[in-house]
Amino acid sequence: MDNSLQLYTTTLEKSFSLLVSKYCKLQLKDHTEASINEGTNLIKDGSKLVHTLKKHIQSLETLLCDCEDFIDEVYDDISHPQPEEDFVYSTAYGMLSYKGRDHIERKKQITIPRPIVKSTKEENKRVLLHEIDYQFKTYTVDNLTNIKPMFGYYNNPSDKINPPGLYCCIVPSVYIKVPFPELIDSTREYSRVRSIRCKYRDKNICDEQRFKMARYHNSNLRTCNFAHRGEQIIKIGYQSRCSSIPRFGDPATLLRDVKNVNLEEIKNVIMYGLNDIISSAVWFDYNNISNVTYPDIDIV
Ligand SMILES: [Zn+2]
Repeated sequence: MDNSLQLYTTTLEKSFSLLVSKYCKLQLKDHTEASINEGTNLIKDGSKLVHTLKKHIQSLETLLCDCEDFIDEVYDDISHPQPEEDFVYSTAYGMLSYKGRDHIERKKQITIPRPIVKSTKEENKRVLLHEIDYQFKTYTVDNLTNIKPMFGYYNNPSDKINPPGLYCCIVPSVYIKVPFPELIDSTREYSRVRSIRCKYRDKNICDEQRFKMARYHNSNLRTCNFAHRGEQIIKIGYQSRCSSIPRFGDPATLLRDVKNVNLEEIKNVIMYGLNDIISSAVWFDYNNISNVTYPDIDIV
């Protein structure tokens, strides 16, 4: 069941990203009748996707109601008390019954968690982060040792989408595989190759755009050093983050570097990193994004 849900969401994500990439291409085009038509078709395709999704949500909601009604009926049929009637009688929903039979106590209404918005565990409530005056969804503890470790190793051979590895959960139901990108020392390397995501994302679209600009300005073709789809981002290690070893974190030298960085510098590195993480977590929370997994955030 979980696996088919994963397949379903992946298919949806694919359909949506196809629309987005078509839109990215459209943005680069001139404003003509053809491009307006193309845009109109994109809007139609987008609306179709939204329409399909709404229909699916409706079916799920109907199914949910049916399930809840069904459980109610079963409860009514076999719960206490039964009305005083003939020796054998029919219950409200048609089950044959008799006085003195065994029955179950009807307890409080069973509630089935809504399938659409899931994984919002009750323990996660909104807590005011006074530093930014924002109600952030998280859990509360009165003992520091109840704070869960930040990373967990995930390994499920039947999961064909999320590879095994170290993951973290930055807001409820948002899981990210911890990346280990190559780090370069900002004081030694100036090329900045692949350190920024190219705004055109796709290499072909980027090439097309640069050809267009070169032709337009009658200038030489510029090389784009940014990272394109499928390429791994390179992180730049600045002195402001770790002054003794700016490349600290580079997987190739990390085990050597941990011996040479002191606690003060580590505090600084953590300060940078945690601030980046909480800012992103607030972004996810504010934009209400949940039930997602990112297995390769270092790949464009
Ligand atoms: Zn580019």
